[in-house]
Amino acid sequence: MKVLKIDHLGIAVHSIEEAKKLFQDTLGLKFEGSETVAEQKVTTAFFPVGDSEVELLESTAPDGPIAKYLEKRGEGIQHIAFRVENIEEALAELKEKGIRLIDEKPRLGAGGAKIAFLHPKSTHGVLIELSERED
Ligand code: ZN
Repeated sequence: MKVLKIDHLGIAVHSIEEAKKLFQDTLGLKFEGSETVAEQKVTTAFFPVGDSEVELLESTAPDGPIAKYLEKRGEGIQHIAFRVENIEEALAELKEKGIRLIDEKPRLGAGGAKIAFLHPKSTHGVLIELSERED
């Protein structure tokens, strides 16, 4: 497998509107728009930074994964996403190497990317997302 770059950092927030004040107004990052991924019960907002992006994550439902994360740990970095060349190949290789996968198969993430998560129990407590997309 080949990791190309850090695609983005996912940051869980209570309110994208509120967090935008920091990332857009104070830090001066460009807000690239937001998108709701209904299946994940999350709204995402992207702010490109150089070759990577900051992804803010706000829950759309009290039982969603981000709502649960905020309840347990509060706001903060929730995951790190690596851009890979071929996500199916990467998942097969990681499984072969004994890494626990949350997603055995890629699913559709924000921006039409193919994404899959690795289990933090296998990755030193860091939730890692693999992402494959064109740009
Ligand atoms: Zn992400």
